[in-house]
Amino acid sequence: MKPETFAQITALLATIKEKSTFYAEKYADIDPRDVKTLTDFQALPLTTKEDLRNAYPLKLQAAPEEKIVRIHSSSGTTGTPVIIPYTAKDVQDWAIMFKRCYEMAGITNLDRIHITPGYGLWTAGIGFQLGAELLGAMAIPMGPGNTDKQLQMMQDLQSTVLCATSSYALLLAEIIAERGIKDKIKLRKGVIGSERWGEKMRRRIADELGVQLYDIYGLTEIYGPGIGINCEDQAPMHYWDDYLYFEIIDPETGEVLPEGESGELVITTLCKEGAPLIRYRTHDLTRIVPGQCSCGSPFPRIETLIGRSDDMIKVKGVNIFPAHIEESLAFVEGASSEYQVMIDHLFGKDIMTVFFETALPEERHPEVEQALHSAIKAKLGLSVVPKAVPIGDLPRSEKKTKRIFDNRY
Ligand code: ZN
Repeated sequence: MKPETFAQITALLATIKEKSTFYAEKYADIDPRDVKTLTDFQALPLTTKEDLRNAYPLKLQAAPEEKIVRIHSSSGTTGTPVIIPYTAKDVQDWAIMFKRCYEMAGITNLDRIHITPGYGLWTAGIGFQLGAELLGAMAIPMGPGNTDKQLQMMQDLQSTVLCATSSYALLLAEIIAERGIKDKIKLRKGVIGSERWGEKMRRRIADELGVQLYDIYGLTEIYGPGIGINCEDQAPMHYWDDYLYFEIIDPETGEVLPEGESGELVITTLCKEGAPLIRYRTHDLTRIVPGQCSCGSPFPRIETLIGRSDDMIKVKGVNIFPAHIEESLAFVEGASSEYQVMIDHLFGKDIMTVFFETALPEERHPEVEQALHSAIKAKLGLSVVPKAVPIGDLPRSEKKTKRIFDNRY
């Protein structure tokens, strides 16, 4: 850890119990001012999403009421939502980080940024907007849905940058190809966030839209999107280590792993006021990439996300991540990147069915199914049931697309 980062951490810990009811309770038996070394810091308990839910509605607030200017909330699909309060400085810091992301992607104040993620309680759309405005670019705050209007505005305003989830970018790319309007679209860059996606899908979106793509990273609990992005032609994402401290832990034991090893990302906010978080478990699986990037940026890097520790499924004793299926599909000529996995327990054994889209005619389906079967067998040592379906058969969504359905329990 850099000495200046450790100084930021000790400054944060010095007053955290006075400022935050949440940490006063969490650290009831700990004096965080006793943290004198990195090892002491690594011994502090991890903060979990469950802890944040239990703090609903505003127990995370760590700044006086008059300094809080807004809240955001993570989706509550799996229970109580998490509410994150922001001060004016937090909002400004987030904008600075987001502007850096656009700059890393080669986006300038002459670009017109077409923003399709939603605005409102969650952090997506508004984060893209903040960064665009600070950069001085023209933000086009579309929000999600109404694809006809999206395409009309994209042509009339000559949008040059598309911000979207990967599945919505794919949907737009498919419709643009279908309607034969590619020559009227002026997009040159795509900033894609909020879900994991495979190389094949990336190539399809890039080819069909004729754009360069960038992965933007972030989560509502830690500002929102904009805390990291990849640079030109490089897969790993740079992150802003003057605002955030990243650790990688073993998701089973919680132990900190050496630099370069893959595990779960844990984040500490270094200067957040409204709701600082210490050692927050993201459940995102990645690794810190050692060494300096060839682009010359001094900011450190993490690998493109491998998956989420809670997305991992175990079939016949094998740990499977969505990335494994995506990588296997990438090997199969004629298979598209769109897939869906169903796991069932039938006749006393687990059966994993992989539905995937292909543009090939039906008589060639057995051949491409056999190829996927072999690719997954080679990668995971697992026999699956491959099922080819025509392009467009599997659901697309504007938000995150659920791809793995475990029907065993
Ligand atoms: Zn770089």
